[in-house]
Amino acid sequence: MSANPFLYQDRTLFCENVALADIASRAGTPTYVYSASAILANYRAYDDGFGALPHTVCYAVKANSNLSILRLLAQAGAGFDIVSGGELFRVLQAGGDPAKIVFSGVGKTAGEIDDALKAGILAFNCESEPELALIDALAHRRGLKARIALRVNPDVEAHTHHYISTGKLAHKFGIDIAEALAVYQRARQFSSLLLEGVSCHIGSQLMDSGPVMEAVDRVLELIVTLREKGFDIQHADLGGGLGVAYKPEDATPSIAAFIARLKDRVQNQNLRVLVEPGRSIVGGAGVLLTKTLYRKTSGEKEFVIVDAAMNDLIRPALYQAYHDILPLRQSSAPMIQADVVGPVCETGDFLAKDRTMQEAFPGDLLAISTAGAYGFVQASNYNTRPRPAEVLVQGSEWKVVRDRESYHDLIRGEA
Ligand SMILES: *Cc1c(COP(=O)(O)O)cnc(C)c1O
Repeated sequence: MSANPFLYQDRTLFCENVALADIASRAGTPTYVYSASAILANYRAYDDGFGALPHTVCYAVKANSNLSILRLLAQAGAGFDIVSGGELFRVLQAGGDPAKIVFSGVGKTAGEIDDALKAGILAFNCESEPELALIDALAHRRGLKARIALRVNPDVEAHTHHYISTGKLAHKFGIDIAEALAVYQRARQFSSLLLEGVSCHIGSQLMDSGPVMEAVDRVLELIVTLREKGFDIQHADLGGGLGVAYKPEDATPSIAAFIARLKDRVQNQNLRVLVEPGRSIVGGAGVLLTKTLYRKTSGEKEFVIVDAAMNDLIRPALYQAYHDILPLRQSSAPMIQADVVGPVCETGDFLAKDRTMQEAFPGDLLAISTAGAYGFVQASNYNTRPRPAEVLVQGSEWKVVRDRESYHDLIRGEA
């Protein structure tokens, strides 16, 4: 299976062996379409990359939490990185193994922690001392021991968008690595905690593995120190963050090469290694299908108005993200330069700015590329727009794995 499952055959864009136009005509637009084979290939690149080294690949659920995708990964043997009680619920519904779940996040509530204790998760990635105290108290009440990794902040610059960079001291995440030893020492007082791990995650959409390796080296140094002080450290959770190429001229970083570099550093340390990849597993495995509604010109500017909007895919508006836009049918229409915009009443509602693209006429279908990660999960009902359908393709088969919302779904629970 090619790394990119979205390829043209006879000028028609396919996902694996299914023409995207067939999906659009039966499921409607806007619709997210994901390739199961690409998701599995990316997961296996991580899993196989570690080889015999003890490891768990904990897919970061927040990147795309559709139940069918979680089930696919659970069946392939994946663990999961969750950041909320809702994500825990999803993973358990999808048949995920609780013993392979790690729970990250700076603001876990007592209810969420208790649910995770009850489920018997692999570890809590703890981000503050008050959180340690709360987990200890709740574990004590249940007569359990909670496995803990402190999330340390290694103070490295991730060189990514400032909203998704997390590894500097000015960010809200983790505990300053310089303070970590003292925090582990103080945490010895908590008799219901097993201080078994160290975790870190420095940011997302990293196109270069250098900063991660720098962070890994600091984490390994800390582990040596902790073991010298008598802590029985069993695992290192090195987070996620590997990027994907959004522009056709960029190359997607190789998962295999990344893991090979990581493995070089962590082998022979008598450690289980965890990673928490999200974007690099699902990002390139999804597109958002949309239909052209109107064309218009305003002064010098050309607009292609489509039926997908910032409520369906917020990345361009939120992160100034670039998403390649492909016609479902390549034609001999001339190239134009246009803004691709949606129907939402915000000037920030754009999918592309000044984009050189094949001229699109009303009715023409487009695929917004590399939309499998942080796409549907950040969709909202702004402007009372139903969230899109989601479709999963495998080989020549496809099915709707989330129905398009109805207007009744939108008012459910309102008085
Ligand atoms: C978001 C997040 C991830 C996943 O990041 P990707 O860039 O999608 O790989 C992993 N771990 C933590 C703690 C996160 O917050």
